[in-house]
Amino acid sequence: MALNGIGVGRALATGPVRRMPDPLPEPPEGERPDDLDAEVARTRTALQQVAAELVERGHRAGGDAQGVLEAQALMAEDPTLVDDVVARIRSGRTGQRAVHEAFLEFQVMLVGLGGYMAERAADLGDVAQRIIAKLTGVPAPGVPDSDTPFVLVARDLAPADTALLDLDKVLALITRDGGPTSHTAILARSRSIPAIVGVSAADSLQDGQVVVVDAGAGTVEVEPSEETVAATLRTIEERKAAANAPITPGALGDGTKVQLLANIGGAKDAAKAVELGAEGVGLFRTEFLFLDSKSAPTVQQQKEQYVAVLKAFPGKKVVVRALDAGADKPLSFLNDSEEENPALGLRGLRVLRVHEDILREQLTALAEAAEATEADLWVMAPMVSEPEESEYFTALARELGIKTPGVMVEVPSAALLAPQILESADFVSIGTNDLTQYTLAADRLLGTVAAFQDPWHPAVLRLVAEVGKAGAEAGKSVGICGEAAADPALAVVLVGLGAKSLSMTPAALADVRAELLTVTLDEARARAAAALKAPSAAAARAAAAEVAKVPASA
Ligand code: PEP
Ligand code: MG
Repeated sequence: MALNGIGVGRALATGPVRRMPDPLPEPPEGERPDDLDAEVARTRTALQQVAAELVERGHRAGGDAQGVLEAQALMAEDPTLVDDVVARIRSGRTGQRAVHEAFLEFQVMLVGLGGYMAERAADLGDVAQRIIAKLTGVPAPGVPDSDTPFVLVARDLAPADTALLDLDKVLALITRDGGPTSHTAILARSRSIPAIVGVSAADSLQDGQVVVVDAGAGTVEVEPSEETVAATLRTIEERKAAANAPITPGALGDGTKVQLLANIGGAKDAAKAVELGAEGVGLFRTEFLFLDSKSAPTVQQQKEQYVAVLKAFPGKKVVVRALDAGADKPLSFLNDSEEENPALGLRGLRVLRVHEDILREQLTALAEAAEATEADLWVMAPMVSEPEESEYFTALARELGIKTPGVMVEVPSAALLAPQILESADFVSIGTNDLTQYTLAADRLLGTVAAFQDPWHPAVLRLVAEVGKAGAEAGKSVGICGEAAADPALAVVLVGLGAKSLSMTPAALADVRAELLTVTLDEARARAAAALKAPSAAAARAAAAEVAKVPASA
């Protein structure tokens, strides 16, 4: 039996399933403990034990995860929360009910504060679950402990769970929820964990069942034959050898060049990108420099950050995106108005135009940074929907000293008018995450419509084809910088549709490099043509795979 979902990367894995425990049911109301003092003491012990366990897990994990877990430990011992829990027990509630109510009230308050605070609400919920599990004697939620490797099956994973996964133990991830741009998928990709998300039948998988996870095909084979397991293990070994192959510049098997670039969020990501063979940067998301600020950093502060990134890539292309605020990346100093549909609101270039001073400062800092280094700086505007916006941005950027200004194609209108946009822009880069969200009218953050967020959708591919054609006619560069570029099979199709560069999380570079070398440009075009004719994302994936099976000479 095979289950289907959305594969992340192309890796294979096989092993027994371990299920992540489902969230605990709400502790019942109206159960009064006999001895309130004893209940308080029991609950205090549970709070302390959970805090100690979190600190201990943090020590074991190290790195970023340690900070996350230590912050959670502090939550379990927060004096205001502990007092609230004790007061609720004294008014006649069980420890578990008191913890549930007190933590929930605090969570609601954090959600009301919005932004960073709201994100911490989920962590608080996780701490509450751990305490309730301890008090009721059931397994704690979260990744199960195991001495032997396993395939982790979960409804979805919290970012802290994914960050903490022990890669010696977790062979692969299967989640019921989530789409290709969900945080589970993004983190799995950046940590090179084979994953299949959005497997609607994942709840049918049982602990101990052996599975073969094929991320490239998006399938989970349940209880495969011994031959299948042996063949899978052989392929895994062969691929390991291929991944250790020397790093060569991105190219197809026939020598056609395809620049392989990195998506980064700052200078701290640069070293890894260089080590994994990035030929430059295809998307530097500058929001990360602004996210925690109440006001924009000064020109000087920005310049320092940009110089640090550019210096890591001497003589290489570095594509920087102007600040992309709004929707999934809110920045209150740019837009604090309540919008019903922020993804369709004042975001990206639209909001930068309203605050032109901030845009001017950013472009000035970038131009000065380029002047001070040897990198080949390209700068692009996010969320452009009209040729006039491209004219505005590229003219302003040139006025401020940017030599190569371009725009992102993330909105269907921009894809359809690519020829007109390329009259002013020196290049375009397709952001497939937003292009998919806007083409399929499905919020990329909403789990209930995650199945629509699939860049294999032929409607998205048609738009990419329009842009590829316009780029070829204008003799200008068309790149891809959404998550789609990191899917090796889709990367081939995107090249077949006219992409000249692919930018992705550095961890995905080796797989994409290896896959590109297996095809010629004609073969990539044949796969693209087959995918374009398909009626759905799944059919497009299958059609491209079908063409791939036919020998080149046939
Ligand atoms: C995209 O939309 O595809 C993109 C690369 O930008 P972001 O994911 O940052 O919106
Ligand atoms: Mg985008």
